[in-house]
Parts: sequence; structure tokens; C-alpha cells
Amino acid sequence: MEKSLGWNGKSLKKILEESEQLFEESGQYYALAKLSLKEEDPFRFERNYASLRGALVSARETALHVAASPIVKEIGELCFALYTPEGDSIVVSTGILVHVHTMSEAIKFMIREDYEEDPGINNGDIFLNNDPACGNVHTTDVQTLIPIFWEGKLVGWAGGVTHQIDTGGITPGHDLVPAMQRFDDGVYYTCRKIGSNDRIWKDHLISARRSVRTPMYWELDEKCRLAGNLMIRDAVLEFIEREGLDYYKQFIREAIEEGRLVFQERVKERLIPGKYRAAAFMDMPQKEEAWQPRARMDKISNQPLEIIIKKDGKMSLSFDGASGPGPNCMNADKGAMEGGQWVLLTQILIYADKVNDGAYFAVEKEYPLGSWCNPGDIYLSYQAPWGNLIPAYTGMMKCISYGLFSRGYREEVVSGYPFTGDAIQGGGIYSDGPLMGQRWSLSTFEISGQGFGASAIRDGLNWGYAMWNPESDLGDVETWELFQGGVPYLSRRVKPNLSGHGKYRGGANYEGVGMVANSRDVDFFGAREGLVFHGAGGMHGGYPNATGYRLYAKNTNMEEIIKNRSTYPLGDPDPTNGEFEQLLKGDITRKPYCSIYPITLDNYDLFYYFLSGGPGYGDPLEREIGHIKQDLDDGFYTKNIVKNVYGVIAKYSEIKKEWEIDKIATKERKEDLKKERREKSMTFEEYWEKEKKKIIENKLSEPVKLMFTESLNLSNNWAKEFKKFWKLPEGFKMEVK
Ligand code: MN
Repeated sequence: MEKSLGWNGKSLKKILEESEQLFEESGQYYALAKLSLKEEDPFRFERNYASLRGALVSARETALHVAASPIVKEIGELCFALYTPEGDSIVVSTGILVHVHTMSEAIKFMIREDYEEDPGINNGDIFLNNDPACGNVHTTDVQTLIPIFWEGKLVGWAGGVTHQIDTGGITPGHDLVPAMQRFDDGVYYTCRKIGSNDRIWKDHLISARRSVRTPMYWELDEKCRLAGNLMIRDAVLEFIEREGLDYYKQFIREAIEEGRLVFQERVKERLIPGKYRAAAFMDMPQKEEAWQPRARMDKISNQPLEIIIKKDGKMSLSFDGASGPGPNCMNADKGAMEGGQWVLLTQILIYADKVNDGAYFAVEKEYPLGSWCNPGDIYLSYQAPWGNLIPAYTGMMKCISYGLFSRGYREEVVSGYPFTGDAIQGGGIYSDGPLMGQRWSLSTFEISGQGFGASAIRDGLNWGYAMWNPESDLGDVETWELFQGGVPYLSRRVKPNLSGHGKYRGGANYEGVGMVANSRDVDFFGAREGLVFHGAGGMHGGYPNATGYRLYAKNTNMEEIIKNRSTYPLGDPDPTNGEFEQLLKGDITRKPYCSIYPITLDNYDLFYYFLSGGPGYGDPLEREIGHIKQDLDDGFYTKNIVKNVYGVIAKYSEIKKEWEIDKIATKERKEDLKKERREKSMTFEEYWEKEKKKIIENKLSEPVKLMFTESLNLSNNWAKEFKKFWKLPEGFKMEVK
């Protein structure tokens, strides 16, 4: 019997090398000059693709209900994929499409590390991975991979991934703000074999139970991923039984090459060749709050993006000039960068046809070594790379949107998207009742319902978008309360003034108040943007959406309020005249940024949170007055904001119970605003002089100087262009404290 697992007596390593070489030489997947199966019998080809796709979708739907944690069940934070023997994805399920390519890297890691020899790859084996250095996004995304065999040869891999509530990191939760090194990120499984003969080993289950704070959900999700994978394996074996092995071998390669061609055609059709650029940023104010001395710094990430579209539909993408990694949880590795890119490209360019690694092969990318998007140091924390990649890829959406706009696809334009940060996180222990002594985890996935960016023809979707999951869903309060039982909701309602302004406004969103109850040892924290607008939101005169802030109250009189049935705060519609301050006795804290290190909370303490609005499109002065009346009636904007930004004067009619616009006063106000713009605005040259003076005189803020210094040191090209643009003197050096 041949020892090698691959076809024709080749090892998997050999097969992978050959595949890479064929692509390198020909530019086509497996050097396929034509799709012969598809040409010979397109119906058979499409039927077979649809059967696999259907099998994956139903594996996902079934596994979800077989056994899964609420976070997976409620909003579907899982995805399945089928891979070639060398680890390229052929077909994916619906769901969190971030993971089309992530598990591909894990399979390739196992092949390159020669798992075929040791620990061995056998029919019925089960592998587990959550290591971002092997293609994963962060430790909370946990992947189960199984090999698929036909007559002793490996014919593919099935993979499933779910997002966990807790993976045993430095604090409870899933996007861990205080993590700054690998050892803070939680339990790491680096492509580990955890089972054989379709069964997960007991020693793994025992150790996993002790490695995370929510072992029941961990175990349910392991069963969910394995169940889905086994269904996919059955579908592949049926496919081969039906169509024959030779057809299958050719089919999987043609499906990927077709994915590549489809992507290229779509780019040709939708975008104009050329160079597109965007500037995006993300800040992490940690100087005041960080526990670790080295983490006490305020940092801003530079996320410059350049996309080049060629005439033949080839696309390349580069983050050259990105600043460095940091002592924070937001460092990203290649898997995270690929994941973020993927889930967005499937939404904006490859949403209608074959979604697989063909598109991965169609895009060239550069993540500069030593930067936040490829630090080259596995011992840093990679717990929440989303912190950097969410803002960074707003640049990609804008670049693509400029192309779409230019080609006339105006409804497809996306002026950016919101920061899907974690509104609230943490956890505690039940102090009473049937669950006494058990841990609950606060990781609401309401964050998958954010306000979307406006397009060039309409307002952004309200509370209905997450860049990482095209099937966004807020979920039910009752479900979230099931597993974050220590913090019942006191309210959920619309919050005004979150939407980015514009002719078309960004999507609106809502706020909530939670109260700690029946618990002890409660940690609470949150990760979202700091003081700087995240990303590159807002387009053609539209504004970015509002930044976030934190509000919580300790040592409150809520016990008394509940006993007396008196009024308590339901939100914070007007922070200058807060309901918390008006209705509560206690220690009330407001912070002007969202990313906070954990604090401890006790029973009857309150916290407030709100989700993100979307960025806007076009000049707000051009917004239709009828739409602004509706915004006021819906509570999306307040009177002062529509006066200051849109130039609309409105009054609430107590009789009609709606807002009325004063047309004459509005006309005057708009004229005033236009006059003010003419007086206050400056030419590009004036602006350039003003900013240049700040650089030369060393007057930029410290985090900005640190950011630019890192970029200048990491990229010669970027440094050259920066110095040329600002006409800086020979030998210029930025002084950082
Ligand atoms: Mn995740």
C-alpha cells in the first residue's frame, strides 16, 4: 500500500507545491486554460455545484439546531466550507463568510508541517485550530477540520468555524481589551488533533472544559462543528459515488478557476482601471487605564490603502505605509486580514456567483512585515484584530465605491460602514437561584445590528448591518439574557444623532441600559473606537457617524427605586442633560471614548451603551426637508442638530404630536450656513500651509507623531512620498517623546 495520502502516490506536501507552482507559472488555478467539464455539460456542472452548496447550507442549518451556543444559534455565527486536498476552498455555506479562506491556511499549515507523517492524518481524525498564526482571525473563532477519504486517498477537507463566547483569556468575554500578548488571549489550539474515528477524545474534552469559562457552550459548539463536517463528508462521498472520482477531481479545480474568472469579470464590469487610495485610522486610548506598564500609551494606527485595478480585471491591494503593532489586542495577522477582506468582497463584488478561493487567487495583496497587519511576532496579542481591520477596510469599500460610482452603479456605492465594536463585555458569577455558582458571560452579539453607510441614492440601513456577517441580526433580548443572565435589560430604544450627516444619512441605531443583578465578581469592559473617527467613513461631502462614549453608575439607589416603583433612566438621549444624573443617586462616570479596561460592578449598578450609526453621503444642505421631518419624528436627529447641520428649523406640535418645519426660517438658516461656509472655508493651499507648519514645528499631538514615525520607519516608499508631499527639508525627523 502506498504511504502517501495524495493522488498518484504523491504526498500532500508535494500536491500543494505543485498547485502553487502551476498557479505561479500560468496565473490560472491548476493552469486550467479552459473549463472543460463546464463547457461539455454546463447543466451537469452547475447541478453538481448547487448540490455541494446545498449540502453545506443544510449542514449549517442542521448543525445550528443539533447543538450550539446561543451566540451561534441566535445570529448564526458559524460557517462551513469544503476544501481541496491541498486546502483551497471549493464551496462555502451561508453565514459568517469571513472564514472562506481562514481554514484554508490552517490546512496548508498542517500540510507544510508534514502532519501526514506526524501526528498522521487518517480517516475519522478531527483537528482543532484557533491560532491566528495559522490562518485564524482570533482565538475566539474556533475551527474544526476533518479530512475526507475515498479508497484510502485524501480527497478533501471539511471545515466548520464558530465564534465562542469565551476562550479563557485574561478576562471573561470575547474581544479582550486588556490582552497585550499571546498569553493573555486565552487557550490556543494550534492545528491540534483532538479525535479519531469520528469521536472527540475524552482527554481533550476534559482539558477544554477547564480552559474556558463557559465550558457548556464550548462543548455544544464542538459538537455543532463536528456534526456539520460529517454531513459535508457524506455529501462529498455521495458526489463521488454518483459522478466518479475523475469527474470530482477535475470539478473541484474548475470550480475554483471559475471563481477566479467570475471575480475578474465582475471587476472589469464594475470598476474603472486605475489607482484608488483611502486613508483610515483607529485609536486606542490606553494611557490612563492600562494595567500593564508597557500598555500605558495612547496609540493611533495608520491604515493607508492603495488598490490598483488593471484592465484585465486583476486587482491588487496594499497597506504599504501602515504603522506598527502595539501592546494591545488589535494586532492582525494574515488570516484576519484575509477574513476581513473576504467577507466584504463577497458583499460588494462577488455576491452573485461562485464564492470560493478563486477570488482569493484573483487578488494580489501586500501586508507589510512589521506593521499592525503583519507584525511577524506570534507572541503579541491577536485577540481583537477587528479593532484595526474594521476601520482599515472602510478604505477598501470607499475605493471600490469610487469605481462603482464612476461606472454608474450608484445604488451599489457604500460610503463606509460603522464600527461593529463590542458594546458591552465582561461576565460574572450567579450569586443566587438555580444557577448559583455558575459563570455567565456578557458578550451580546447585538453588535451585528449596526447602522449601515448611505449609498449615493438612499439612506443607510438602520440597525441592520455588520461588516463581518452579511446575515446580520440583532437577536432577541430574551436570548441574550439567557446567557448573560446577570444583567437584565432595562431598556432598548432609538438613540438620536448617531447617523452620519449627508444628503443621504447613515443608518440610525439604538441605546440600552443594563443592570447587574443576582451576581458577584462582575467584570465589565468595552471595545470600540476611542476619540478619533474610525476608518474612512463619509463620502462626497457626507459625514462620518458619531463616535462612542461610555456611561455607568456604581453604588446606585436602584434597590430603593425598584421597591418604590419610581422612575429610572432608560437611556441618554441628551448627554448634556442626562437621565442618569437626573434620576439616580450614585457615582456616575462618563468617558469620552468607548474602549475601556475592565471595571468591577456590583448588584444594582447600571451601565449604558449604544450601537453605531452609519456614515453619510453627499452635502447635508441638500437633504430633502421632508426626510428631515421624518428623521425628527423617528427620533433619529434632535432639533439642534438639524438646525446646526442641515439648516432646518423645526418645532414640535403638541397638538398634532409631530414635528413641523418652519419653511421661511429654514430658507434663511440655509443661506446663513452657506455664507458661514464661504467665510470659514480655506483653499487647499492654505490648509496645506497650516498643516505643514504643525509638522515642521513639531506641533502634532504625540499619538499622531508616534503613528507617522512608525510609518516613516517601516516603509521607504511611504516615507519618500510623505516627505515629497509636504516638501519637508532634507534630513527632516519627527520628534517623538
Ligand atoms: Mn470571531
